Amino acid sequence: MAVEIPFRRDFAFEYGRLEPVAPGIRRIVANNPGPFTFRGTGTYVIGEGKVAVIDPGPELVEHVDALLGALRGETITHILVTHTHRDHSPAAAAVKAATGAPTYGFGPHAGGRRGETAVEEGGDWDFTPDIVTRDGDEIVGSGWRFEAVHTPGHTSNHLCFALPDNAILFSGDHVMGWSTSVIAPPDGDMAAYMASLEKLLHRDDGVYWPTHGPAITDPKAHVRAFIAHRREREAGIIACLEAGVGRVDAMVERLYVGLNPNLHRAAGRSVLAHLIDLIGREVVKTDGTATIDATYRLADR
Ligand SMILES: [Zn+2]
Repeated sequence: MAVEIPFRRDFAFEYGRLEPVAPGIRRIVANNPGPFTFRGTGTYVIGEGKVAVIDPGPELVEHVDALLGALRGETITHILVTHTHRDHSPAAAAVKAATGAPTYGFGPHAGGRRGETAVEEGGDWDFTPDIVTRDGDEIVGSGWRFEAVHTPGHTSNHLCFALPDNAILFSGDHVMGWSTSVIAPPDGDMAAYMASLEKLLHRDDGVYWPTHGPAITDPKAHVRAFIAHRREREAGIIACLEAGVGRVDAMVERLYVGLNPNLHRAAGRSVLAHLIDLIGREVVKTDGTATIDATYRLADR
């Protein structure tokens, strides 16, 4: 039986308007809708007067202007970045230039390792945080206190930011209501992603605010559904291998029936992420490097 994920896609907002979404939390959505961004990047503003900004967004002048214009009379003191994809971090540079606020993040994209085959069009290779932020680090401002939660998987440098006094978690792209997360090797890592989902189950956050789409008000049920969904996908991949289907493109055709053709490539990367995880657990084998074009088989065959 297929796992049902309780997706949430009811999302009321107006582009370019900084709007209150919860006490002490405002959000402005960038006009960059797409198959990976839903309606666009949601930039959060926390506090009043002296505020923190989470995920300034893409390189989109109108978005930065709208954010800075809406905060006229207030001061941005902190710029927090969940991860270095081009829909999240590039605008940090413009916001920093305008305000002087330091940036907080785990580190440069993919640890700064820009390998030969590690070409990933979604990565922002220009971002380096002023303040390197690690799991458990506190970031304290005027009337608010964040705790960083390292959640690698979607990217190796992904951080969620918790407001422990409010039982709120800004979950970035790690857990979203509208969609599953893209796990694309080499920087995306399925084993790390699954561990980062489990990690959230040991926390007591009551509401998640993802960077794309609406809040998740029953977050543990959501996280459990994502774990079950990935286990189901993994079982499907093993069934493919048992049936002698050993290539990624053929697996995508069998496993993702009716998928939007624009998402085929992402689905292939996701299957590859599962295969790399299964190789790490010695369930699957391939000859040579685990790539999108390789042929895979079960280790016990
Ligand atoms: Zn992302």
